[in-house]
Amino acid sequence: MRVLMVAPPGAGKGTQGALIATHFGMPHISTGELLRDHVARQTALGQAVREHLERGELVPDQIVLDMLREAMIAAKAAGGGFVLDGIPRNMPQARAAYQMGCELDMTADVALHLQADDGELVRRLLARAALEHRSDDTADIIAQRLALYYEVTSPIVSWYRDRGILVSVDAMRSAQEVGREILAALEAMRSLLDYVPAQARHSVDLTGLGEAFGATGSPAGTSD
Ligand code: AMP
Repeated sequence: MRVLMVAPPGAGKGTQGALIATHFGMPHISTGELLRDHVARQTALGQAVREHLERGELVPDQIVLDMLREAMIAAKAAGGGFVLDGIPRNMPQARAAYQMGCELDMTADVALHLQADDGELVRRLLARAALEHRSDDTADIIAQRLALYYEVTSPIVSWYRDRGILVSVDAMRSAQEVGREILAALEAMRSLLDYVPAQARHSVDLTGLGEAFGATGSPAGTSD
């Protein structure tokens, strides 16, 4: 199963990406983690991108697309599944990732959209800052990253909706509750992937599910 995540910072991409990867036994490809690792090891790439990360700006598309190609080729050799965390981040990346997926016969089955309010996202990111000391988790940079998300990343959501692969999830609840809902949805979809052609699929909005059943779960911290 091939899953990509579209979510604002603080919505829980890291936590849920790791959960999905472990559950389905497939690689968790996080461009943010790969970039932070380069910065920590002070590679040439790390030095080239460090300031972008510190300022909460996107690094040039070609850098992350090269990382993605390498990771997708490795994922193909490892069985073909993956969960993408942090890419695509804008429309050119989404188109390039789709093109790459077509070439490698590995287009995404599901675009998982994690939704949460700004107030909750900021609260989680500031809580994480106190624990992890990520250089981009300061109040100013958080505001910059959120603004960038709404400006360049969120428009890709409707592209996935139109392709019929969008699954929207309410990420305002605890990481455990959100994780359970995601795994249940993915398990249900996995058994259908082999039988339902890509053109016949439809997007699904699960954000009203909790409310429909009277749940009032309280949000809890996640790693992004
Ligand atoms: P994340 O861990 O996904 O929040 O990413 C942390 C930072 O890494 C972002 O603020 C960007 O500076 C950079 N980054 C991660 N993924 C991408 C991407 N797909 N395109 C451009 N920059 C990225």
